[in-house]
Amino acid sequence: MPVNVAQNQIYESYSMLHPDGTLMCHCNFKRAKWYVDRDLATWVDEKQFKLKFEPQGYGKSENPFYMQALENRCVVCGSLDELNKHHVVPYVFRSRFPLAYKESNHHDIVPVCVDCHERYEAHATEFKALLAHQAGANMNTSMTEAFRHNKKVLSARNILQRIKEGNLVDSKGNPAIVPEEKLMVLREKAREELREDVPVSGTQWADSIMDKVMAEEGLFAFVKQWRAHFIEHMKPQYLPQYWSVEHPLEVKGKEASNEVVQ
Ligand SMILES: [Zn+2]
Repeated sequence: MPVNVAQNQIYESYSMLHPDGTLMCHCNFKRAKWYVDRDLATWVDEKQFKLKFEPQGYGKSENPFYMQALENRCVVCGSLDELNKHHVVPYVFRSRFPLAYKESNHHDIVPVCVDCHERYEAHATEFKALLAHQAGANMNTSMTEAFRHNKKVLSARNILQRIKEGNLVDSKGNPAIVPEEKLMVLREKAREELREDVPVSGTQWADSIMDKVMAEEGLFAFVKQWRAHFIEHMKPQYLPQYWSVEHPLEVKGKEASNEVVQ
């Protein structure tokens, strides 16, 4: 049995063979070992194992993306060093995907070097903030829209009250003279109703985004948005062959089309 020498590699590319010898897919050492440990497969050589049972179909053999041995090289700059697993869809969203879709496929996990990763993180954060904004949430502060609104209304009421009581003073301690225009704005604001405030905590902004995604464009469109964003900002030169923004989402071997996911 091979020793797992590829611990720090992103792609381990062990070949799973059908009992008739057909290549079914590539997988990592852990998965290969899982089959062999359960006596469901035997090692053919260092990097290949053959199933002992007749599986349903030929796995992913019809999809050329999974038939290639993927390279451990930064997909952006080509560096072979300091590689990280980069998830094209950030964890904060993947963790909120419906259970059936959580097991994301290898397609959306690519090797990226530390430098490129850091460079992309800044773009990703910006994009998250934009998505949060579009979903009516704010990821940068714990203030909700309602909280900010209420703060302005209460502040206007407070100032008017102080003016009324003669407590609003200028820098010399004299009662402040507030221009009529300003008073009108304050009165208008003070008349607005307070809104119910549900405080945003932690990553609740991501819930808001996912709620919007599931209600509107759907999961597949959301994943494609992230793939396109990565390509647009990083211009990766070393993506594996057949890597594509349009690559279907997969659920345990089944391809989920846009219609199904929505
Ligand atoms: Zn790189």
